Amino acid sequence: MTIIAIKNIGTLVSGDIKKPISSSNTIIIEDGKIAKLGNEELLKQYQCDKVIDAKGITVTPGLIDSHVHPVIGDFTPRQNTLGFIDSSLHGGVTTMISAGECHTPGRPKDVAGTKALAILAHKSFQNMRPGGVKLHGGALILEKGLTEKDFEELAREGVWLVGEIGLGSINKPEDAAPMVEWAKKHGFKTMMHTGGTSIPGSTTVTAADVMQVNPHVVSHLNGGPTAIPIEEVKKLIDETSITLEMVQCGNFKVFKQAIEWLKEKNQLDRVILGNDSPSGTGIIPLGILRSVCFIASMTGVSAEEALCMATGNTARVYGLNVGIIEEGREADLVLMDAPMGSVGKNCIQALEAGDLPGISMVIIDGKLVATKSRNTPPPAIKAVVC
Ligand SMILES: [Zn+2]
Repeated sequence: MTIIAIKNIGTLVSGDIKKPISSSNTIIIEDGKIAKLGNEELLKQYQCDKVIDAKGITVTPGLIDSHVHPVIGDFTPRQNTLGFIDSSLHGGVTTMISAGECHTPGRPKDVAGTKALAILAHKSFQNMRPGGVKLHGGALILEKGLTEKDFEELAREGVWLVGEIGLGSINKPEDAAPMVEWAKKHGFKTMMHTGGTSIPGSTTVTAADVMQVNPHVVSHLNGGPTAIPIEEVKKLIDETSITLEMVQCGNFKVFKQAIEWLKEKNQLDRVILGNDSPSGTGIIPLGILRSVCFIASMTGVSAEEALCMATGNTARVYGLNVGIIEEGREADLVLMDAPMGSVGKNCIQALEAGDLPGISMVIIDGKLVATKSRNTPPPAIKAVVC
């Protein structure tokens, strides 16, 4: 058994938006899972193989990007770029959720082909984690001709995601609704593109369409990249309880307004954060941190609550055993501090001041996978391995 301790944590962000700050300052990790939370007294009870001194900086759950468009491996043909997943790790992202492998060169659009692609991407990313990042790939793109038997078969092969509806030939709500029912029946999580057309071939999706289809997640409520009219955003907030995703590659005016409305309604637990990248907007390794920073500095929501939108909220919606720092969860953690030169004195203050924090360490399943971020500015204080 391998036991790792993290001590001297200044601020521990739990990931649970109902109680975003934990009073613990020490974490014990056993074989990749969080075993115990408490204070430094814990160190006397465990024979630790490694002790990390956080030196008073902030620890958060690893960030989750709820909207990524991968292909296979750490390559995107959309921007002809290698290594975008590993780059995101250096922005604190430890889990990614595919919203559909729509950029696959020559993507097959028949029933057998779309199923084969989902199975291939799912199994490929299970066997290979770029940079250590847990990418949940194989998000089925809905095409005409799929039957309930196909969902049953895909579920048997482990596929559990339906990519954003609207990417494939199923783009009318009356065609999508029965498929979403089959998908739900067989344990899939479903998401639906919302807003204007993103790329040639995809379709404009309105609030009424989303309400008719009733997916688990409204993909990019703030547009991907073109948002629905603000009255429709309000309708989805007020008249449904669907999870609402905000993306970095979207409309910031709608982003801000939607968060403010949800704060007023005390429904911030409905928000999850994605990048919607690689896309036409590009590759944004710091995108999830940038969205957290945008919320914390521009909407009156606290930085710790914003961090929970990128961690515990997403884990809850997708049923993942990450995203919250509690006993039994996979030990995916980010250690960060205010960047050098920030007016903020710690990670939380820096985010609320509009500065991106500096990442000192990223841990996945209890293993140190990055000890110095190549993408954030340097943290004012660095954690050290004792
Ligand atoms: Zn989309």
